[in-house]
Amino acid sequence: MLDKIESIKSEALNASSGISDGDSLEQFRIKFLGRKGTIHELFEGFKDVKPDEKGKVGKALNELKVLLQKIYDDKKSEYEKTGGADDEADITLPGRTFNKGTRHLIHQAIAEITGIFSKIGFDIYEGPEIEDEFHNFDALNTPEYHPSRDMQDTFYVDSKGKDKRYLLRTHTSPGQVHVMENSKPPIRVIVPGKVYRNEEVSARSLAVFHQIEGLYVDKGVNFRELKGTLDHYAWEFFGKGLKTRLRPSFFPFTEPSAEMDVECILCKGDGCRVCKHTGWLEILGCGMVDPNVFQSVGYDPDEYTGFAFGIGIERTLMVKYGIPDIRIFYENDIRFLKQF
Ligand SMILES: [Zn+2]
Repeated sequence: MLDKIESIKSEALNASSGISDGDSLEQFRIKFLGRKGTIHELFEGFKDVKPDEKGKVGKALNELKVLLQKIYDDKKSEYEKTGGADDEADITLPGRTFNKGTRHLIHQAIAEITGIFSKIGFDIYEGPEIEDEFHNFDALNTPEYHPSRDMQDTFYVDSKGKDKRYLLRTHTSPGQVHVMENSKPPIRVIVPGKVYRNEEVSARSLAVFHQIEGLYVDKGVNFRELKGTLDHYAWEFFGKGLKTRLRPSFFPFTEPSAEMDVECILCKGDGCRVCKHTGWLEILGCGMVDPNVFQSVGYDPDEYTGFAFGIGIERTLMVKYGIPDIRIFYENDIRFLKQF
């Protein structure tokens, strides 16, 4: 009996070194410590041991039981500490995704449009968002009585103690005045930025939105160059070879003035919901710089001519992607933003 206990002891020690995962640990338990295991068998056989050996055998048997239980407990806690990684990892589970941020659609568009114009020689200028009345209105041939100067349409800034009235710029056009005041022709510049109007927020209008203003001044700049430059922009931004057209319009700071349409990119001119069945999409306002604007910055209108244009970013994106509601740009709904 003592020999048997000894051989089981060495067998168990051997087996314990082979325990590498939950399965082999459980097999060890069943084989040695289970209800029909080796230890149980040995205790069953104890009643047949001769009385004079019972003391010795009993002691050895108890020591063996304690040893095997300790081996099992140690291995078990070691296995639990490692989390049973080998055994339990479910490689069929989907991985964890990390949502990557992207540039906002508005900023992507500003980068793309300024890129188109800088490739053909336009510089980028960013003017202040708080302007005085001279730069926002007077210098741009918008007289005192013009309705856009009304408190109802413009956010005026508290100008107490100042020599001028200040306001949040209502367009990016004052940027061209700053550039002309501070440099001599030839000038080719675009002015991207935020503009502010006291408008009721609706599906079509916001109180804050983005524009890109463009200005080209030199000797002998003509309307044909305006059309060529804007056709280039329309083809780069909306699609090569699309038809464009200019419609007569009015802006105080250009004469003549026009609005540019591009053939509807969705229906290619056949008429659809997005182009309101006209086949055309309005993309910008433009014109030849009014001589009064040149005079207010000290340029001689007999010497210089130029053209200017203004692109509404939100409006342009609504046209390009068929977005029905301008407010969606600022709702920060990730389902909308991550499409771009
Ligand atoms: Zn259409």
